[in-house]
Amino acid sequence: MNNFTYYTPTKVFFGRDEERRVGDIVKSYGATKVLVLYGGGSVKRSGLLDRVEQALTDAGVSYVAFGGVHPNPLLSHTHEAIALAKQESIDFILAVGGGSVIDEAKAVGMGYYYDGDVWDFYLRRAVPERVVPLGCILTIAAAGSETSWASVITNEKGWYKIGYQNDILRPIFAIMNPELLYTLPPYQMACGNVDMIMHVLERFFNPNAEDDLTDSMAAALIRNVIKNARIVKENPKDYNANFEIMWAGSLAHNGLFDGGNGRGDWGTHHIEMEVSGLFDVAHGAGLAAIWPSWARYVLHKDVGRFAKLARLVFDVQTEDEEAAALEGIAKMEAFFKEIDMPTSLTELGIQPTEEQYWDMAKKCTKRDMVKEGCFGQLTSADIYKIYKMAE
Ligand code: NAP
Ligand code: FE
Repeated sequence: MNNFTYYTPTKVFFGRDEERRVGDIVKSYGATKVLVLYGGGSVKRSGLLDRVEQALTDAGVSYVAFGGVHPNPLLSHTHEAIALAKQESIDFILAVGGGSVIDEAKAVGMGYYYDGDVWDFYLRRAVPERVVPLGCILTIAAAGSETSWASVITNEKGWYKIGYQNDILRPIFAIMNPELLYTLPPYQMACGNVDMIMHVLERFFNPNAEDDLTDSMAAALIRNVIKNARIVKENPKDYNANFEIMWAGSLAHNGLFDGGNGRGDWGTHHIEMEVSGLFDVAHGAGLAAIWPSWARYVLHKDVGRFAKLARLVFDVQTEDEEAAALEGIAKMEAFFKEIDMPTSLTELGIQPTEEQYWDMAKKCTKRDMVKEGCFGQLTSADIYKIYKMAE
């Protein structure tokens, strides 16, 4: 077992209509001028932004709203948001949207008190000492950024998509109303289902894992997401299924699944981030396209771990460990297909050139997955082979 620190300070307001309280909630944190950040327009179309603005006005809190956050948020837009935040002297940020909006909001919170380029934090050239307090209203269950310590931004100069992690990035509060998920396109819901499963799987794959409590909870969460993903595919407005999916998305990425197992692998995430950075595809779909190939490639690092996953999640009874492990991978792949997720790069709709494959593989090894002792330590040649397997 590994020692660990568990820190999940985000206060969660969960359930129907909770977003209507946002004005009072923001005020209770002493906010006087709020930057309301949102994405490409879904919150306008759904009427959520109007409700949020009304709640802030009713509470006597002034605000400035700024939209246009791109899915896979871009550094250039982040710079614009920081400039606006400084010009307006804001003292609170409210992110209304999904992982992309929340991640950009985290970047704005760091950039507000920093004279240099916020990208320095992502390159580990600087460490933020202070951030603007951040609250969020979540509209898609996926990235888990509403309680996580991470922010992922894409720098269009070179298409580098890099994550930065720091506990001061964890939002102060997260408002989660499962009914806000009803307007999600089925594709985005499925992407979210994959992402939250992957956040648990990345942590499951650890070379020294022996924390059976965490393994059991991990399997329970994955089984629950699979069950509810099937329900919302048939009935997108099933409240209970959306409720569980939304909560699962947060739990999957708030640190609960590190436990005594340690920090996890994160290989699939990093391999995928090159893909969504370069080709601007949805993160969850990219993960589904990569994971089966990653799994088969690293299987022999620890066959028993894959077999345990197969038994816990899919009730695989096969006695032979390797056969059980492969059965588990195939069942996960079949589930991705069942919810209309791609399980190859072709199905994802991209055809990288040989140069692009190598470019992605090389950029990927600059990430910490290779330097630290993760489940399957990978070189750029390994990553290139995984991309080719996923073709
Ligand atoms: P997202 O990129 O925030 O949103 C995806 C799409 O869903 C957008 O087009 C958005 O439209 C739409 N959408 C969101 N809510 C909607 C709703 N209720 N109804 C209709 N459409 C809605 O999705 P995400 O998966 O949450 O975030 C992905 C990003 O998070 C990626 O960059 C990924 O790398 C990153 N990520 C971060 C962490 C972390 O811990 N920080 C972890 C994993 C992944 P609008 O733009 O119009 O709103
Ligand atoms: Fe993710």
